[in-house]
Amino acid sequence: MKTQDFARVVTGTAFHTPARDRLEVLEDHAFVLDTSGTITRLLPPDHPERPALIEAARQRGVLSELPEGSVLIPGLIDLHIHAPQWPQLGKALDAPLEAWLQKYTFPMEARFADTAFAAEVYDEMVATLLAHGTTTAVYFGSVEVAPNLVLAEACLRHGQRALIGKVAMDDPDNCPPYYRDASAEEGLAETRRFVTELRALAGDDPLVLPVITPRFIPSCSDELLAGLGAMARELDCHVQTHCSESDWEVGHVAARLGQTDCEALSGHGLLTDRTVLAHSNFVTGGDMEIICAHGSAVAHCPMSNAYFANAVFPLRAAIERGVKVGLGTDISGGFSPSLFDAARHALMASRHAASGTDPALPPETRGPGTRPLGTVETFWLATASGGEALRLPIGQFREGYRFDALAIATNAPGSSLRYYPALDPLEELFEKLVLTADRGAIAEVWVDGKRRLD
Ligand SMILES: [Zn+2]
Repeated sequence: MKTQDFARVVTGTAFHTPARDRLEVLEDHAFVLDTSGTITRLLPPDHPERPALIEAARQRGVLSELPEGSVLIPGLIDLHIHAPQWPQLGKALDAPLEAWLQKYTFPMEARFADTAFAAEVYDEMVATLLAHGTTTAVYFGSVEVAPNLVLAEACLRHGQRALIGKVAMDDPDNCPPYYRDASAEEGLAETRRFVTELRALAGDDPLVLPVITPRFIPSCSDELLAGLGAMARELDCHVQTHCSESDWEVGHVAARLGQTDCEALSGHGLLTDRTVLAHSNFVTGGDMEIICAHGSAVAHCPMSNAYFANAVFPLRAAIERGVKVGLGTDISGGFSPSLFDAARHALMASRHAASGTDPALPPETRGPGTRPLGTVETFWLATASGGEALRLPIGQFREGYRFDALAIATNAPGSSLRYYPALDPLEELFEKLVLTADRGAIAEVWVDGKRRLD
């Protein structure tokens, strides 16, 4: 192989989950990257070309060798996070969804119209999320265009892959006068302007992509929803919205439209193969069929669901019906910036849902007895499945995929991830990693083949 064929070579042992139930351990592999950060080759230790390649990379100063006791994993993919709720992380969780929005959240998000405030908050937020291992974030922004472009600049500066939406919301019955699009027409025009300006900012081979973002049906007029559905196709964009989140929300949509969220969103052209539906806790079997037929995906957000959903998302049923599912922190409905925490809460919610929760009932009737999540599936949701939901080549270590990765250091000071090589075969180290890895264990963060955190 010619040395000019690569831009960097990374060597080390890696974990990834190329399928739902399959952990693959890539022991001491060499990852050959091109200038775009794409993995062009994956070489095992006994590959005949490997010694010459490693030597060439060393001589050119583009060899990155993982230290002993460290492992690589794909970067974590947060499918649902509200950027302008970052200052509210960890508080204001004492009200149901409809009151929480009006009392705390809309006033907080409205503050981001001050772009100096937005710049300060977003700079720190993006750096913190990267440090927690979130290499891709799917952001709800705020209503005004300018602060969302400030967010895009922060993502480009720090090197975080991001999908960002200008939130569209125009219904005067559910949106306060100080924080909404003045009309459906304005919501559409501003969304179009946002998409155009973000694309100009991000350039070719963009790290940051625009997302068409109706907040959810209760805050949008039918005219706005239909217009955004048409625009998603015209401008070839991802779509995100909230779907069937809580009793109140489902009831509102049923009373107003006589439909489920999925039926209404589908009718407005908002379900595509690049649509992410946050929550979807109350989806019916018919809704799951609609989601599958469009190739849309669900962002399961177990932390915020515990506060706002009034129920547990039927994750096992959704997966078995073929619904694409990834994970979201749903900051600040969720109280942690860590996708590891979201994954662990998904695991716990799944176990509670499977067993049932009422000790007064006999075990045979206490719960449905569905199979709870395992650690491999949980990790798959946070990585490979999230990448598939976005239809981006991320979340796995494969030729043709972008090298978005975390170097996890075992036994790092201040981290809970403890590795005893004599006691922990690599498969068991993986299990420990899924359940105990934390910010202190994340030694390096790579996006598009570049180190983003030192
Ligand atoms: Zn949300």
